[in-house]
Amino acid sequence: MSVQAISSPNARVPTDVLKKVLESGELTQDLEKRLFELASVAKTRSYSPYSKFRVGAAVLAKSGNIWLGCNVESASYGATRCAEQTAFLKAVSDGDNRFIAVGVTTDTDAYISPCGICRQFMVEWGKELLVYNFKPDGSFRKYKLKDLLPDSFGPDDLDRPREGI
Ligand SMILES: [Zn+2]
Repeated sequence: MSVQAISSPNARVPTDVLKKVLESGELTQDLEKRLFELASVAKTRSYSPYSKFRVGAAVLAKSGNIWLGCNVESASYGATRCAEQTAFLKAVSDGDNRFIAVGVTTDTDAYISPCGICRQFMVEWGKELLVYNFKPDGSFRKYKLKDLLPDSFGPDDLDRPREGI
């Protein structure tokens, strides 16, 4: 029995562009612009009645799929999910779990960076992830996740030999 994807990727990168990105490890300028546009679309879907702080994220997977996510708040505040987590959860639950870049944007005229929980959440899939913090005008700052979360704890640490076990 075949299984349909529950959610389809929100966008796809053309094969020739993806090849260039995978070879260089960098996004093209057009793709950076596209990531911003898609994160901005995701932002419009934000469910943030409490903070009124809209956040949108777009995650580019190595498959060429781009997944969108927005922040989803809860009256039980601790159950709130950030935009980055929403996008990654969508991707991973549909079988995409190797990533190149994430773009994040808000309504604030500042380079808003992923929160600490999201940094830890995302490092599960690699420290080399490119992280774009977009202002609403499209200007950005770009990091690698390892620069935002140095000396992180990740999957490799669980493979280390342990005493007493
Ligand atoms: Zn977060």
